[in-house]
Amino acid sequence: MVKNPTFLEAKKNPQLRQVYLDSIMPLCPESVKELVYDPYGIKKNQHIDELASQNLLNHLTKEEIASSKKRPFEAYIAVIYSPALIGERKQHPMFFSRFAFEKYNSAANFLSSVLDHETIHIDSLVYGIDFGKNLIVNRTNANQVDWKILLFADEVRAYNNQIEKLSERGIKDLYFREWLDWQLTSHEDLLLMVNSKTELEERIKENLLYSSF
Ligand SMILES: [Zn+2]
Repeated sequence: MVKNPTFLEAKKNPQLRQVYLDSIMPLCPESVKELVYDPYGIKKNQHIDELASQNLLNHLTKEEIASSKKRPFEAYIAVIYSPALIGERKQHPMFFSRFAFEKYNSAANFLSSVLDHETIHIDSLVYGIDFGKNLIVNRTNANQVDWKILLFADEVRAYNNQIEKLSERGIKDLYFREWLDWQLTSHEDLLLMVNSKTELEERIKENLLYSSF
């Protein structure tokens, strides 16, 4: 067994993937409970069932829960998200399907997604979502925000952060950059398409999409 496999070694050899994830765990913030290699999404689905049994996924219908369990293939790296969990200061796991290793071609791009994107989602769950200008959404006010707005808004935050940190990571891969830009724009569009019904929702959109810094 290779003790400290590189990303490319783990990409080639599935046996090394959990060892690799354990080796990058020290790079993750405290909010991350564990990095779980879960090739077919079985552990992710157990986690979903557990949350559902504790009434922590009540924002979803039974059908939506069932369909989220069928999705290990499009979500290469998954963090299970729920308004009932936001700001609870409980650590959360991150699940990696086999496609996470098959899709990424370099350690830098992989780490960019893990450390600059997915950890943003986990931080949001653990500490609440900080939209700037003293606007924080946590369990006390999450019910005033359409669930889809929270979800799309957090994607916008995560893609923005990931793009901002590309040069810090020495990533010059134009194709990757373009893909991130496209993801960001798509999620901004999705966010705009959900009509705001509360003042809080309007402020979230304003801070995220129209703020000039
Ligand atoms: Zn995301």
